[in-house]
Amino acid sequence: MTKELKHYINGQWVDSSNPNKLNIINPATQKVIARAPSATKEETEEAIKIAKRMFESGIWSDQSPVARAAVLLQIADLIQENLDELRDLEVQNNGKTKREAESDVEEAVNTFRYYAGLLNMPNGQVYETSGNMQTLIIKEPIGVAGLIVPWNFPLLMSVWKIAPALAAGNSILLKPAEITPMTAVKLFELIDQSDLPKGAATLIMGDGPVVGQTIAESVDVDIVSFTGSTGVGRHIMQAAAGNMKKVSLELGGKSPNIIFDDADLETALDYSLFGIFMGSGQVCSSGSRILVQEGLYDEFVQKYIQKAKKIRVGPGHDEHSQMGAIVSEKHFKSILNYIQIGKEEGANLALGGSRIEGNGLEDGFFIEPTVFTDVTTDMRIVREEIFGPVVTIQKFKDEEEAIKIANDTEYGLAGAVFSTDQNKALRIIKKVRAGITWVNAYHLTNIQAPWGGYKQSGIGRSLSTYGLDEYQETKQININLDPAPIRWFE
Ligand code: NAP
Ligand code: MG
Repeated sequence: MTKELKHYINGQWVDSSNPNKLNIINPATQKVIARAPSATKEETEEAIKIAKRMFESGIWSDQSPVARAAVLLQIADLIQENLDELRDLEVQNNGKTKREAESDVEEAVNTFRYYAGLLNMPNGQVYETSGNMQTLIIKEPIGVAGLIVPWNFPLLMSVWKIAPALAAGNSILLKPAEITPMTAVKLFELIDQSDLPKGAATLIMGDGPVVGQTIAESVDVDIVSFTGSTGVGRHIMQAAAGNMKKVSLELGGKSPNIIFDDADLETALDYSLFGIFMGSGQVCSSGSRILVQEGLYDEFVQKYIQKAKKIRVGPGHDEHSQMGAIVSEKHFKSILNYIQIGKEEGANLALGGSRIEGNGLEDGFFIEPTVFTDVTTDMRIVREEIFGPVVTIQKFKDEEEAIKIANDTEYGLAGAVFSTDQNKALRIIKKVRAGITWVNAYHLTNIQAPWGGYKQSGIGRSLSTYGLDEYQETKQININLDPAPIRWFE
């Protein structure tokens, strides 16, 4: 039987007053796996009001850091205990492979544990100021945190926001991408089993322009934290201006992956495949623009294509699959459309470019690993985020040209350099205008380091101590240790 999903508001599972429901689809089979509610504007406003009341009651925000850490650890343990189910739900709903989904769930556990640990760290400053004054700098929760996430890492992107927002003592309201609510619902079932006070965490499902927009506009929401496309991010920022709420934006990318003649070829090939085909290229930090120095270019392209051809594409639940389905029919069509644009622009389609059929794959949304060569920087396939298994390979002469091409983009999320000359690699990576970078690697991330972009790839940082800061207000308390009149007017 198809599962009927419900919102989680004020610690209760509730139906939506909107009778229209959205069929949740497995993109590898197009089978309906659940039906999700689609909240109205009024329902969203009501949920925000409840979140605000809960925040003001202090039921969560007034708890000690030690108590809050204990709840976060409980949630981490519950996720760990339910790893298999969460993994399988992510595979079914998003289309990614089991291996990818399992790593997401493990990272979700680690993220809750990390922020629990951070709560036991010093968090503030004390200054001796003039005379008998002392200043304390303290951190406080912001209030109601509206969290809007995309469909590419449905669980992990939610957790990257929920864990620090709760750690800081906020009340949270999560809106998953409407097409991928399955792991969010499961996560809230687990949160419901924990000792988090009822009402401190709300799950509300529905359409971005309705639920997301209401959250971004609401005067009762104090921070909107959004991960998604740059276009919607710009819209969120405008909507947030009404009450000057804090905005945290993790947006798109078109990241350069620069390979020098002196790179270790096998390492460069391996990470360059991983950099774009992991998650079927539906990863914000994907290395979607490979730049190769002219001396290595021909050999690199030839070997890259040989290896990309061998990637086994198939349903995520099949252990044999190395690359899964595209998340939805709409996105699948958008990727195929970009491939068509690339051909029309005169790029050389060196590999792939089509839907995969046969062996039952025609039931799902599968696209071949696709490689374009002979591209120029003005082409749309080089400038725009395709967000699929499509990579462009471009040739450069020297360091100067590599940096020029790498930075010729409105985005600034990620980037990498491959070279055995460490001095050169560091020199170049420091010039790449991006927030997340690698030398001789790609995609390997770590919770202790801040995640976010330069330029139009976003504002603010997730993860690390910066990620906790994002959900906190900063207050100075100036204390007169020797109270006596100042006599300014005498
Ligand atoms: P999206 O279309 O921007 O949607 C993201 C979320 O925003 C969804 O929940 C969506 O709702 C909602 N939304 C849509 N319109 C809205 C509006 N007017 N007001 C408020 N919310 C609205 O992005 P996506 O296609 O899901 O995800 C892919 C994008 O995310 C890519 O650009 C990728 O680079 C980016 N991304 C960035 C990071 C990072 O860390 N920088 C990480 C992952 C993904 P619906 O459910 O109705 O669509
Ligand atoms: Mg929508």
